[in-house]
Amino acid sequence: MNTGNKAGLSSKDTSNRSVGGAASRGDELALPTTAPIVRPIRNVYCIGRNYKLHAAELGNAVPSEPMVFMKPSHALTWLDGQHTLSLPLHKGAVHHELELVLRIGRQVESGMTADEVVDGLALGIDFTLRDVQDELKKQGHPWLAAKGFLHSAPLTPFMAYPGTEATIHTPFQLKLNGNTVQQGAASDMIFNFDELIQYVAIHYGLGEGDLIFTGTPAGVGAVQEGDTLELLWNGACAGKGVIQTTEVK
Ligand code: MG
Repeated sequence: MNTGNKAGLSSKDTSNRSVGGAASRGDELALPTTAPIVRPIRNVYCIGRNYKLHAAELGNAVPSEPMVFMKPSHALTWLDGQHTLSLPLHKGAVHHELELVLRIGRQVESGMTADEVVDGLALGIDFTLRDVQDELKKQGHPWLAAKGFLHSAPLTPFMAYPGTEATIHTPFQLKLNGNTVQQGAASDMIFNFDELIQYVAIHYGLGEGDLIFTGTPAGVGAVQEGDTLELLWNGACAGKGVIQTTEVK
């Protein structure tokens, strides 16, 4: 996956591709950071149904413990305004799920908090093939086909973690073609950062370079070819991208 430089992404490469490190570009965006952290990414954990209103909008019960699934690291791509987001729109509805993404900076041990172990924060989208997922749920099959496809996990550049207290009260937002379709704050989560980190660490292991997509607030919906997405952190643009259809083969 690493193509030679530390970020795993050539500064001259503008193709839509999976990446294995943090963003090294994005200077034209109003990023809430002065120095992007560049580290390889390892495991990509995702949390389902972590906001009550989102669980309700899909007709799902509120979980009694974190619901964890994974995406391949190959699903990652960047929302740096220079890549299009090539998605399999021909496979049914592709929904946007705007999420806060934590990057873990060290081996996590029992009792450690987000303030001790998180070294980066980004906004990301957990793109979901909703029709495919509905069918997989009916059949009791794993979610990989609905959640793990290429480019299903685009990220803004990482900022240094502002600390849990500052992070949870900061609003984040997704604009689709200029209209706000999702907004939230981590203070509305069912399971907070510390609980998610402990749960994932205990059950699956959590270490340097791992990511956690922490769940989406309400307002998920389908994207179409040509749609423009803009992700905002505290009202400022942190990343953007344009939707493109994956060529059908
Ligand atoms: Mg999600």
